[in-house]
Amino acid sequence: MLMLQSILGSFALPTWLILIAYFAWFSLSAKDYASMTPRDAGTLWKIHKRSAECRSNRWHAIRRKENIVGFECECGYRHLEKRPITAKTPRSTRERCRELTGGFYHTY
Ligand SMILES: [Zn+2]
Repeated sequence: MLMLQSILGSFALPTWLILIAYFAWFSLSAKDYASMTPRDAGTLWKIHKRSAECRSNRWHAIRRKENIVGFECECGYRHLEKRPITAKTPRSTRERCRELTGGFYHTY
């Protein structure tokens, strides 16, 4: 039992470090919506699975234009790397965004 706890403990720290690193990176580099690679989204999904004890096996990326800005888990959980919006976005882009995300999510 003690061994199990130490195994879990050794998982928890890198998970938090990854999370903190992501937040730091996004806040430094992103201006609007923070984009990520599919691999990043997959990593965040794994973090969600672990932290929420989610048993879903599937997720899909939430896209804005050509960028992945988050993911939606099969369980309904959504994660978005959202930045405060200051830029004006033309309406056509909004429509296109809704199209790309399949109606799951729209930005405004
Ligand atoms: Zn989930």
